[in-house]
Formats: sequence, C-alpha cells, structure tokens
Amino acid sequence: MYDAGAPVRSLWEETAPPLADGADTGPNGDETCDVAIIGGGFTGLSCALHLARDFSLDVRLLEAGPLGWGASGRNGGFCTLPPMGLSLDGLISRYGEAEAKHFIASQVEATRFVRSFAEDEGIDIEPQGEGELHVAHAPSRYAELEHERDLLTGTFGIPARLIPREEVAREWYDSQEQFGALHVGAGFGLHPLRFVRGLAEVAARAGAKLHGHSPVTQWEREGAAHRLVTPSGTIRASRVVVATNGFTRAPMPVTLAHNVLPVMSNIVVTRPLSEAELDTQNWRTETPCANTRNLLFYYRLLPDRRFLFGARGDLTGKPEDGFRMRRFMERRLGEVFPGWAHVETTHSWRGFVCMAARLTPSLGALPDDESVFFALGYHGNGVAAAPWAGRLLAQLIGGKADSADIPAPLRGPPRSIPFPALRRWYLKGALGYYRVMDL
Ligand SMILES: Cc1cc2nc3c(=O)[nH]c(=O)nc-3n(C[C@H](O)[C@H](O)[C@H](O)COP(=O)(O)OP(=O)(O)OC[C@H]3O[C@@H](n4cnc5c(N)ncnc54)[C@H](O)[C@@H]3O)c2cc1C
Repeated sequence: MYDAGAPVRSLWEETAPPLADGADTGPNGDETCDVAIIGGGFTGLSCALHLARDFSLDVRLLEAGPLGWGASGRNGGFCTLPPMGLSLDGLISRYGEAEAKHFIASQVEATRFVRSFAEDEGIDIEPQGEGELHVAHAPSRYAELEHERDLLTGTFGIPARLIPREEVAREWYDSQEQFGALHVGAGFGLHPLRFVRGLAEVAARAGAKLHGHSPVTQWEREGAAHRLVTPSGTIRASRVVVATNGFTRAPMPVTLAHNVLPVMSNIVVTRPLSEAELDTQNWRTETPCANTRNLLFYYRLLPDRRFLFGARGDLTGKPEDGFRMRRFMERRLGEVFPGWAHVETTHSWRGFVCMAARLTPSLGALPDDESVFFALGYHGNGVAAAPWAGRLLAQLIGGKADSADIPAPLRGPPRSIPFPALRRWYLKGALGYYRVMDL
C-alpha cells in the first residue's frame, strides 16, 4: 500500500491525458527554497500553486510516486461534503452553532471552488450530476434523513429535499437497499486524475517546482532551516508543509504520523452498461449517491455508462485480501442491484483515506514548531476539502489568513491516539462494530 512505485491500475489511469511536459521537473539535486511541500495530491498541489502564484514564493513539492499517486488520483470523484465522521448534531454540540456554520459554509465554498477553478483554467474534469443523493439503506434511516434535511436547510442554508421511496424509484433509480433519499444541493462528480493533473500543470505554470518520484526519506533540522533528503538530492527550506494525508508516517513529525488512522477504501468499476441493463434498475441519474450504512457504499454512473461502486474495509493491504474484497464488492453490488448481478467488473483498486480521533480534519502549524504546516484527515471526503485546505495553508503561510480563518472543527493538530501501535486493532474493532450495526 505504501510502495509509491506500484502502479494504481485505476480506470482513471486509462482515461486521463498524461501530464504535460515540464509539469514534473524530475530529480531535484541539492536546492534551497522558501517552502517545501511533502505530498503531491490535491492538498500539496493546491498549496504549491497558491504559494507560487499569489505570494511569489519559491516552492518545491516532493511526491514519493508520480504526481497524484495517492488518494487524489484514485478516488471515487465525489466532490461533495462534508469531510468529517461526525453527525451534523455532533458538530454543533461540540463546536457550537457559529463555528459549525463557519465550517460547513467553507466546505460548500470548497465544492464551488473546484468547479470554478477547473472552468477558469480549462481543465476538463468531466463534471457530472448536481448535488449528492443520500439514500436510506433501511426503512428506519429515512427518519434520520428527515432530521438531516431540517438541519441542512434550517441551520446551514443548504438546499436539501427529502424524496420518498416511490419517487426515487420512479425518477432516480431503484434497488434492494433504497428506502427513500435526501438530495443535498451541493457538490457533483468528477474525474479525479484529470483534476489532479490539471492542477499540477497550473501549479507548474505558476512557477512551483514539482518533483515526482522523490520520496522524503529523512527530515533534519539545520538551525532554523529544514533539510529534506530524497534519493536524488536534498531540499533546504525555512518552512515545510506536510500534505501526506492517509500516507502519513515517518519521517513526518510524530504529532501527525502517530495520530492519524489510515483506512482502506476500495472501488470496483463495471463494463459499460447497455440502456436495457440500466432500465432493469430504472437508473436515470448521473448524481453521485451514497447510502446511510456506517460502512457506506458509494456509487455513481460514469460518462461512458460504467458503474462505479465503492466501499470501505480490509485491514491488511495484502494482494490476496484485495482480491477477496473485490469478490465481496461484486457480490454486494449484485445483491443491491440484482439486475446487474451478471455484469462483470473490469477494474478494481484501493487506497488510504485518513481518519482521526476528533472525527474532523486538522489544519494549521505545529504548536511546537510554527514553521511546519499541515492539512490532513479528510475522513474520506477530500476531493473538495483538500484543494480548499491547500489554498488556506498557502494563505496562512503568505500572511493573508490567520488561525481565526480556520474553522474551529479543523484548527490545530490531530488529537492524540493512545498507544498508536494498536491503531490497526482499534480499526478492526470499529469495523466489526459497524458491520453489526449495519445488519
Ligand atoms: C479509493 C478511494 C476513494 C475515495 N473517494 C473519495 C470521493 O469520492 N470523494 C472524496 O471527497 N474523497 C474520496 N477519497 C478521499 C480523497 O481522495 C482524499 O481525501 C484526498 O485525495 C486527500 O488528498 P491529499 O492531497 O491530502 O492526499 P493524497 O492524495 O493521499 O496525497 C498524499 C501524498 O503524499 C505522498 N507521500 C507520503 N509520504 C511521502 C514522503 N515521505 N515523501 C514524499 N511523498 C510522500 C503520497 O505518495 C501521496 O501521493 C477517496 C480515497 C480513496 C483511497
């Protein structure tokens, strides 16, 4: 899972144009810069772009694999909200209504930022659908969606419409796990690798120097400066940004590396479905859908009529367990959508999303070293949140924003996880518990 030399083999890899010449400047040699960024996904690339373009800072980005190799180039393409594991009620009770609103408004803005940025820069991200459909997977969950609708519309001012089971079946789709839905009027679907490569090209044009295939293997202090060592050279910088999300581990600072929980998310994609096959489930939408399971299924119809189906799970990252997960997902896809039980999948891949104990992302500077910045822990929802977070990091570093601009649910480093060596066991317990709850 951590071998950045291993190809991802996603559908996106087959369908995205290659990175333009000059966007990845290759091996770095020994260099000095203002800001070094570790991690070449949405967070790191957006931060690099905004530092170079808006603050004229000298930026070097170091990515272990090809640019976008991590979750950013291989996710489900749901540009939706919110990036957290808390319920809306939980968010309000923990941070108060004003900060909860600040946070949710920032994430609505994040989805808009992605769309308008791509339009302005001429990046064809293949946008699809309007908003997101939250589907009750059991009858009892419909009442919860009603409460969520009231909060979204009443407290947060986000358009949301509750749709009874019969109407969903008639106008959107039908399945064995469809008991009504909530349409949330924010977000859309996109092609993630097209977006990440487009972002990289814009960042390179703005003057950021991007180095793929450059894993940081050592991180040392030289007085006030940081020295990052890669196999092909070193970078000296006065400030460092950690943008490694679910792939965060040594040599990143312990405050970050020990206090995030990488969780595997898995995707299968079918061959293109015929109109007759789509009709068997009355499928009529390009809007991204996710259901109300704790271990949620997320799914959407792609522009060429392939069906993308995603699920969290698996603890080892071993190829044989990946193969078992693929079989499990094919079986569940056929159970939920019986009309497609015979349809073969052509692609499957997986990667790490990043959870944390406080159930919200973390953004800011380290309390014990304010020259080290970070943004991570998007709880599986970073397509909108991570580019937005990268921009906010750039504004913090450039002096255009301060900590009051960070919504409180995100402010500061992740909360400590006791006995971090046991994290996989905690995850095993949580997955087992959620599996039972979902039954
Ligand atoms: C299968 C899957 C499906 C997902 N689906 C969705 C979705 O539909 N919608 C959504 O909003 N979110 C989704 N996510 C989550 C989303 O992709 C992430 O939240 C987001 O991409 C995080 O971006 P990032 O730039 O912070 O991290 P990443 O894109 O993961 O980038 C981190 C990078 O850091 C690099 N790195 C780590 N250590 C080092 C080092 N020592 N030196 C140099 N580089 C290093 C890694 O190689 C990696 O490329 C999904 C994730 C996965 C895995």
